[in-house]
Amino acid sequence: AAVDIHLGKDSYTVEIRRGLLEDTGRKIRRLTDAEKIAVVTDDHVGPLYGERFRRILEDAGFTVRIITIPAGETSKNLSVFGDVLNAMADFEMTRKDALVTLSGGVPGDLGGYAAASYMRGIPFFQVPTTILAQIDSSVGGKVAVDLPAGKNLAGAFYQPRGVFIDPDLLSTLPARFIHDGLAEAVKYGCIGDSRLFSLFESMENEADLEAHMEDIICASVQQKARVVEADAKEQNLRQILNFGHTIGHAVERYFHYETYTHGEGVAIGMALLTEQTERMGLTEKGTAARMKKVLEKLSLPVTVPVEAARLIPEIMHDKKRRGNRITLVTIPRIGEAELLPVDTEELSRYIVTGEDAL
Ligand code: NAD
Ligand code: ZN
Repeated sequence: AAVDIHLGKDSYTVEIRRGLLEDTGRKIRRLTDAEKIAVVTDDHVGPLYGERFRRILEDAGFTVRIITIPAGETSKNLSVFGDVLNAMADFEMTRKDALVTLSGGVPGDLGGYAAASYMRGIPFFQVPTTILAQIDSSVGGKVAVDLPAGKNLAGAFYQPRGVFIDPDLLSTLPARFIHDGLAEAVKYGCIGDSRLFSLFESMENEADLEAHMEDIICASVQQKARVVEADAKEQNLRQILNFGHTIGHAVERYFHYETYTHGEGVAIGMALLTEQTERMGLTEKGTAARMKKVLEKLSLPVTVPVEAARLIPEIMHDKKRRGNRITLVTIPRIGEAELLPVDTEELSRYIVTGEDAL
C-alpha cells in the first residue's frame, strides 16, 4: 500500500509492504541522484539489519557508510548529533548525497535533524523499524534532539523524500515496544477511524495481531497523514494527535520516565480522561469500557497507582500549556475528536485515578 503525503513541493509517499526492504535501494535510486548514502542506525538494529541493508543499497549502485549510535533515548542529544555530522563530513558527503535512517524514532529524529542541518539540508529517507516509528515519528517531518532542559527542544520541520515501511522488520522488536507503539494505533482509531478501533476489538490473540499488522500500520499512517496535511493549511488540527498525551506525559514524568513507556502513559491518559468525560456526558456511554478492553488486550495499563492530585503539577510542565489554560483532546465517540480548552484549576475534574476512586 502507499499513502501520499500532500505538502506541495515537499510531498512524498509512504510505502508499506512486507518485504519492502529488499526494494528500497532501487526506490531511493529513482528519487535521488546521490552517489553516497549515510545510514543512521543504532547498536541494536545495526547488527540485525545493517549488513543486509548495506548490500541492498550497494546493489543499487550507492557507496554506503553505516553510522551507528548507542540505542536509547539518552543518545538523542547534541553530542551524538555532532558525532553523526562529523561522520558525514568524514565520509565527504556533498549536498546531493543522501541520509537514510534505519531505526526506531530515536535515530530517526536525530538522523533527520542531521540531514536537515548538514550543508543546510540533504535528501533524507526513513526506513522505520519500530511500530512507533512506522506509524508516528517517520511521518510528519518533525526532527529533533533533546536538550538537558527537555525533550525535542532543538529541531526542525524537515520532510523526508520517502518513507519505506516493512512490517517484517518488526519480527525482532521486543514485545514491550510492540505494545508501546500499538497504544498510538489505538489512539488513531479513537480520534479518527472507528473501523481501525473495531479491528482491535475483533482481535483475539497475538497471531491475529500479526495477521492484521499491515492493515493497522496503513490505517494509522493514513490518520497521521490526514492530520499533518490539514495542519499545514490551518493551524491546530495537529493537536488532536495529543489525545491521551497530556495525562500520559504527566504519568511518564511523575515516575521519572522509568516506570512507564510513552505508549503506556498514553494508554493510561486515554482511559482516565475518557472515563471522566463519559461521566460528564461529553462522551458516548460505554466508550471508556470499550477502550479499556482493547488496551488491556494489548497488555497496556489503564490506571495508575497515584492520586490524581499528584499528576496536576506534572501537567503544569506541559509544553502545550498556555498560561493557565490547557487544551485537552476528548472523544465524543470512537472515531471523533474534539478540542476542549480547560482552566488548570478545573483540571482535577478531568482526572480521577484508580487511587482516588478507592
Ligand atoms: P527507539 O528508536 O529507541 O527504539 C526502541 C528500541 O527498539 C531501541 O532499543 C531500539 O534499538 C530497538 N529497536 C528498534 N527497531 C528494532 C527492531 N526492528 N528489532 C529489534 N529492536 C529494535 O524508540 P522509538 O520508540 O522507536 O521512538 C521513540 C522516539 O520517537 C522518542 O525520542 C520520541 O520523541 C520520538 N517521536 C518522534 C515523533 C515525531 O513526530 N518525530 C513522534 C513520536 C515520537
Ligand atoms: Zn505519542
